[in-house]
Formats: sequence, C-alpha cells, structure tokens
Amino acid sequence: MDGPFGVLDEKPAFPERFKIIRHGDSPSAGSATYWWRIMMKRFVLAFMLGTMLASSLLAGEPERRRERVEVSEEALRIHRSALVIDGHNDLPYQFREREDLSFAQFDISRPQPRFHTDIPRLRQGGVGGQFWSAFVPASTGRSKTAVTQTLEQIDVIRRLVQRYPNDFELALTADDVVRIHQAGKIASLIGIEGGHSIDNSLGVLRMYYDLGVRYMTLTHSETLDWADSATDEPRHHGLTEFGRNVVKEMNRLGMMVDLSHVSPEVMRQAIEISKAPVIFSHSSAYALAPHVRNVPDDILRLLPKNGGVVMINFYSGFITPEGARASRDMFSAYRQMQEKIKDRRELERAIEQWKLEHPMPRGSVHTVVDHIEHVIKLAGIDHVGLGSDYDGISSTPEQLEDVSTYPRITQELLNRGYTEEQIRKILGGNVLRVMREVEAKRSVAPVR
Ligand SMILES: [Zn+2]
Repeated sequence: MDGPFGVLDEKPAFPERFKIIRHGDSPSAGSATYWWRIMMKRFVLAFMLGTMLASSLLAGEPERRRERVEVSEEALRIHRSALVIDGHNDLPYQFREREDLSFAQFDISRPQPRFHTDIPRLRQGGVGGQFWSAFVPASTGRSKTAVTQTLEQIDVIRRLVQRYPNDFELALTADDVVRIHQAGKIASLIGIEGGHSIDNSLGVLRMYYDLGVRYMTLTHSETLDWADSATDEPRHHGLTEFGRNVVKEMNRLGMMVDLSHVSPEVMRQAIEISKAPVIFSHSSAYALAPHVRNVPDDILRLLPKNGGVVMINFYSGFITPEGARASRDMFSAYRQMQEKIKDRRELERAIEQWKLEHPMPRGSVHTVVDHIEHVIKLAGIDHVGLGSDYDGISSTPEQLEDVSTYPRITQELLNRGYTEEQIRKILGGNVLRVMREVEAKRSVAPVR
C-alpha cells in the first residue's frame, strides 16, 4: 500500500479512482465534469512533460528513445513459460475500503475496471503467484485494533481464494506455488504489511504464520515501539532488542522478512541478523528515484551475500526523480492540510485539488525496467523481482496500468538482451528460490 495516503497512512488510500462509492454518490464516470477534469489533467500532464523534455534537451542530455513496447509472440512464449510471481497486491484492502467484505458488489471473475486487479486480467498478465497484502493502516496500531483488522483481512484473502477455486489456491510453500501453477491456477500467498499488525506479540506473529502468512513487512509508514520506518522519525537507530527477536522468530518460523517501508538502518540490521534471505516485497531503487521508500545502493550491495530479492514497485511516485519529488511534496502538503482541515471529505477534496495542481509524471514500462537493471547492476541477476503494489497505488506507469500488463516487462527485458533464463528469474524464479531457502532454514516442524 503506497498511495499518497497509504504512505502517510493517517487514513487509507482513496485516490480518485478508488473512492468509496455509496448510494446517492455515483461515480459519474461519464459526466461532462468528469471528462473535463480528465482532459484538464491530460493537458497539464502533457504541458509538464513537454517542459521536462525541453529542459532535458537544453541541459544537453541525449534524449533516450522510449518507444511503446509491443509484445511479440516470442516474448509471450517466454512469459508463459515462466512462473510470474508478484510480491505485493492490495486488492484485499479495496474490499475493505468499499465496505464490500462479502464481495457482493465486486465479482472479480468479471472485469472490474475500478480495480487494477481482476481474474481475467490476472490471466492475461500470466500471473502464476500473487502475494495478497493483508494491509491495515498503521493508525490501527495506535487504536489497538490492528490485530482484529489484520485477522479480518487475512479472512478476506482466504475467502477470496475459496470463492474462486478454479482460479486461486492458497499456497503455503514454494512447492505449493509450483504445484498450483502447474494445475493452471494462481498460487495465492498472504503477506502482512507492517509490524503494527502483531501488537508487540510474538504469539500473534506465530498465529499469523499458522493462518498462512508467509511474509511480514517489519513496519509500514510509522515507527513502531521496536523498529524505525522510512517515512517517520527514527527513534531506535534501527531495531530494538524485541525487533531483533521478531526477525529471529520469523527465521525460526520460516516467514520471509520484508524490508519495504523500513528505514535504511533497519534494512542493514535485519540483513545482518537474518539467517535467511530477506525480501523487499515492493520497493524500487533510490539511485534512480530518491525517495525514502526506495532501496539505497549500499543496501543493494549487501544482497548477494544475504541472497535476498528486491521486488520492484511500479508506483509513479517511486520510479522517476520527478515522481519522487512530487510524492515527497505531497507528503508534506498532506501533513499541513491535515492540521488545518479536520473534516474528512473536505480534506479529500483539498488533496484532490492539490494533486490536480501538482501532476506526477507517470513513468513507463521502460522506467520500471530501468529499476530492474539497476538492481541487477549492483546486486546481480539473482536478486530482483516484481512487486507492483497494484490496487495500493494511485498512479501507474504508462503501459503498466494493471495486472494484465506484465508481458510488456518480458518484452522490454528481451529488447535489452536478457536471456530466457534470466527473464524467468526476474519474473518469479528469484523469489521462489528465496521462499525455498527461508523454508530450508526454518527450525520447527511445518504447521499446516
Ligand atoms: Zn506499501
């Protein structure tokens, strides 16, 4: 979850395309105002991109050719031969946001254009394994409702899987992922996004494992009693003693340690402590887009020894320098507005207005592949993967608009000269290898 409010997390994401829809509050997608706003946005965006292009030419930078990626038969064949695994998808939270926990309103076996995700598009995108995020906002930690809400989100994922038995099956191990994929279904895995979900209790952590949770992001947007977040004040210089015990207990259980959202000090310490490879379930490279949510080069260089994988986040705010600046600005603008405006709806409107006035460059499939290449350059081909963050982000790159678009990444990797074997590692092979290593290093009998 990394929409503007996901990162800030004072309240959950409700970017414009994900607004809660209630009776008498129809989306009015076809209305004149709606189209006018879309056109205005496009105009502003085009103007901005034009200005950016002009300034980069003036600065003497060579303009890189960024043609649209067209998927060839060859790329499609390679894509279909791979086990494509995405590290982070926030669809479960969309059901919570829309107050549709019983899936009465949104049947994802049919196209659901309001989401980035539905089954037809997952199929089109050739997705073989998906980590579904059992995200609840960090504020639930403060209100002491995190455990209940996290359990409810795990329940949403498990019921979603049960509801579509021909398309999904819960995967608890790497072998499960392979078996389910071979049976023509999408292996569904559960990840928890933020240590606030365990309410300072290793017992709760262990019970999550038993319910099928296979990774936990150590923090979300707020610093916890035991770990610093990248987007909050550091209070502990990384992990406290309890924080270190959380990492050790996760190793013991065979749960992957996810370092997206945490401060660089936590990243470094967790990598040092962890006996098993770590993951970044949805993070991009800081060197290409300087945002604290991204992974710095010195951390990337630690991955070969640790064995871990950075799964690249597609959010526009994390993939270009301008996007990173825009999302940083949005962060502080939001904090200021939040102090002044107490009414939620009014705050929503103010943020929308702000976003309209500060459009964010989207980036493209090329930009995302640049991040993949950067990780390869610093850490190697075995340490990168995909963690789109679909349905948790408010802006997607061009040509990567939803879960149907993954084959374009395969095509672009092919265009850049990667071999079939290398492409299959990036698409999912690497994270599957990490899962196996984490399982091999666990020191308790499997609980199923
Ligand atoms: Zn997130």
